[in-house]
Amino acid sequence: MNTQELIKKYRDLQFKASCYQLALTTIDYDSKTIAPKKGSNYRNPRIAFLSGEHFSLITGQEMIDVLEALQQAEGVDELTRKEVEYQLRDINKIRYIPVDEYVKHQQLELDSSLAWEKAKNAKDYSIFEPWLKKMIESKKKLLTYRKDYGTKPDYDFLLDDYEPGMNMDKYDKFFNAVKEGLIPVIQKIQQAKQINTDFMYKNYPIEDQKKVTQMLIDYIGYDLEAGAVAESEHPFSNLYSKYDNRVTTHYHEDNFTSNIFSIIHEVGHATYTAQVKEELEDTYFFTSITSGMHESQSRLMENYLGRSEAFWKPNFSKLIELFPEQLKDVTLEDFVKAINAAGPSFIRINADELTYPLHIVIRYEIEKGLFDGSISVDNLDKVWNQKYQEYLNITPSDDAEGILQDIHWSSGSIGYFPTYALGSAYAAQFMHQMRKDIDVDEALATNRFDLIKDWLRTHIHENVGMYLPEQQMILATNEPFNPQYYIDYLTEKYTKLYQL
Ligand code: ZN
Repeated sequence: MNTQELIKKYRDLQFKASCYQLALTTIDYDSKTIAPKKGSNYRNPRIAFLSGEHFSLITGQEMIDVLEALQQAEGVDELTRKEVEYQLRDINKIRYIPVDEYVKHQQLELDSSLAWEKAKNAKDYSIFEPWLKKMIESKKKLLTYRKDYGTKPDYDFLLDDYEPGMNMDKYDKFFNAVKEGLIPVIQKIQQAKQINTDFMYKNYPIEDQKKVTQMLIDYIGYDLEAGAVAESEHPFSNLYSKYDNRVTTHYHEDNFTSNIFSIIHEVGHATYTAQVKEELEDTYFFTSITSGMHESQSRLMENYLGRSEAFWKPNFSKLIELFPEQLKDVTLEDFVKAINAAGPSFIRINADELTYPLHIVIRYEIEKGLFDGSISVDNLDKVWNQKYQEYLNITPSDDAEGILQDIHWSSGSIGYFPTYALGSAYAAQFMHQMRKDIDVDEALATNRFDLIKDWLRTHIHENVGMYLPEQQMILATNEPFNPQYYIDYLTEKYTKLYQL
């Protein structure tokens, strides 16, 4: 085959793979939103089967032959060459796993997610415990099929899967810097005058909260003809293509800002893939966006923009119109203070920006311990509670607000949590540069969110996952990743907010 024929063959195989991907992603979105619970016994084996078909295709000899031939071929354009490189990198991690083993693991992820849900509802870790044990064993077993297995600690493989280039050494340094920088600020805040947040927890009818969702969508400019908003237990986004980026949210009647920040966060993810260069649509670069880079974009929108006063200047009066009773006597200044109030809390996704990384530190230390054998799955709820006591000075009253709050471990996402903190730190550095280049507050206050999206598009989004995080960082900010931006941003912000 000549180069052109090889590229055509590659594109054909890619197309086939994307058909499975489309089916699986759609079923996933459906399962977590409107699909009836009782149907899971019917659905799950079929999802596992489809995953197996997809797996066989992408790790099959035909695909590998084409990729390896393209790697050697002359006259391959730069883009395709890079796609091939990334795809081979990813396939090499999984290609030696026997397909039945792979399917078994997919089925385990589905069953274990159901067990987690049941355990969470019952607030009882012991229901989930045997599943978590199986999950860790299965993750470890899958690692043994890698060609380079044994060359580094197991957990390092998982960390690198979500964020290429990362390992425990680098995360330890990062988290130590974060802890050293932020714990003193958190402690000072506990002695400072507290911010009133009572109005946030009044009753806010869900029908009216849906109007807030629409308001935010209009303001940010999330195109509903290329996106969708549904409701799910845990907010998430599924990103298919430049023209199909879906999000979900969860409405709490007694906590109306939860929806606000979930929507802004998920739309942050969706905006990333909606702003891709046309020529990169339908390429492997969608898959190669790292988790840290993705979270940097969602958390940038949620926190760095969504919790700023400038963001609420044009929007706050609309909130008052929707909730005149609940927000009676609340000023814009009160509101902005309240949505930034910091303090120890149990639930990660509702945590403030300052204490958030400690929630991640806890999960990171537990994952590390589970993999090096220093922590066991038995009684992990106790370890969890001890760590919350140690870092945040609080003890969860039950497992639902403790160890069972996150879906990640049940669905096999181990090594993912650290990317949330890393993404937040990437975002600080991006924001620092963005503020040098454009007047961010002016854009927010005058309804020109498009200017911010333009900056994000030209500096980050349009390339999707073409660059590794370290390259992307230099391209957008002219310097390597430096966590000091994150620590400085939070220290300055909270020193001012609490007049420390
Ligand atoms: Zn996210």
